Amino acid sequence: MQPINLPKDLHPHILPCVVIGAGVAGHAAMVWLQSYGVEATWVAQDLDPGGMLYRVHNKLVNVPGQNYAHGPALAAKIQEQIQGSSLPPIHTAYVQHIEEKEQFFNIKLSSKEGKYTQTLQARTILLATGTRYGNLQLTKKQTPSPHITNMDSAYFSSSASRDGAEVKHKTVAVIGGGDAAFENAITLAQKHNCHIHLLMRSKPKARRKFVQQVIALKDHITVWPIPTTTEGATPHEDHVTLHLTCKDEPHDLDVSCAFIRIGVRPVYPNTQGFELETNASGYICVDQHQRTSNPRIFAAGDITATPMQSIVTSASEAAKAALSIAQELGAYTLTEDELSTLLG
Ligand SMILES: Cc1cc2nc3c(=O)[nH]c(=O)nc-3n(C[C@H](O)[C@H](O)[C@H](O)COP(=O)(O)OP(=O)(O)OC[C@H]3O[C@@H](n4cnc5c(N)ncnc54)[C@H](O)[C@@H]3O)c2cc1C
Repeated sequence: MQPINLPKDLHPHILPCVVIGAGVAGHAAMVWLQSYGVEATWVAQDLDPGGMLYRVHNKLVNVPGQNYAHGPALAAKIQEQIQGSSLPPIHTAYVQHIEEKEQFFNIKLSSKEGKYTQTLQARTILLATGTRYGNLQLTKKQTPSPHITNMDSAYFSSSASRDGAEVKHKTVAVIGGGDAAFENAITLAQKHNCHIHLLMRSKPKARRKFVQQVIALKDHITVWPIPTTTEGATPHEDHVTLHLTCKDEPHDLDVSCAFIRIGVRPVYPNTQGFELETNASGYICVDQHQRTSNPRIFAAGDITATPMQSIVTSASEAAKAALSIAQELGAYTLTEDELSTLLG
């Protein structure tokens, strides 16, 4: 497939497009850009594609026609598809910042440890950098528990699907009030027969279906009054003490493990010389063509302010962004010469 030629006034080493991120959105964008003949460069800090899929330990739902047991199963399929295609490999690097020049952007890359640096120049950018789990930094002590394995750190976990079996029949805490926290509490009660303390800083934002399930599981799940904030934690040999403030009163709660699901936060490289418009939570605002407040930067997937984070929405936003980038780069604009050759 013929790559799109850049206008002659741009230097040959300026890349037409750099896609940052190798999750579902980054991958979908690369596939669509290729189909439009856009030679895109793919940069992500990972060796393999998948991004957030590696954190999905439960069955993937709401993916039409697909039935994956967990996120890594879909990531493996994406990898397989890349290997059988002519997509370029991921250029593994961390994007530190993006600097705007008159006709292009400087994209500063480094290795994870910051050991090497390199600068790419690109005419357009697609940000598909997703989100990261929020954390509470409850304790600095990260030594593994002698009793519990596989947790994210000593006595703290982000996934009941992955780690629930480790705390079978035990007393645990779930911190958070959204869908993920409620689902974790339900999994721990139903599958692992735990007693759960559900700790919420503010009114729950979980869907009604999950709230009703928690109500039905009241024998297993103690819902603490709102607001209950988790201020800190003291790890012991076989349990952790959570230091809580419940309705302005201090409380200590001993649990085998605390499952922390307090939501995610958007991540993207720093920008120099310009700012991207975001919503109050820091997600990037895009128009219906996935264009950000900077006309040559597009965004897709969990990073955008679109009120839905899922595999299909990430892929569909990426497809729209790819079309917009292809149009921006001239994939649909014939030159007079091309038109006269066509018309013979
Ligand atoms: C527990 C859990 C369960 C879920 N279950 C489902 C489900 O059942 N069905 C469903 O449809 N959706 C589900 N989702 C949501 C779905 O996984 C996400 O919506 C989707 O994977 C997001 O893809 P993304 O490409 O936007 O972002 P990500 O997958 O987060 O990808 C971001 C990419 O950007 C890279 N990156 C970030 N910053 C930089 C940087 N500075 N430099 C270089 N690279 C960078 C990352 O390394 C990564 O490659 C679930 C999510 C979670 C957490």
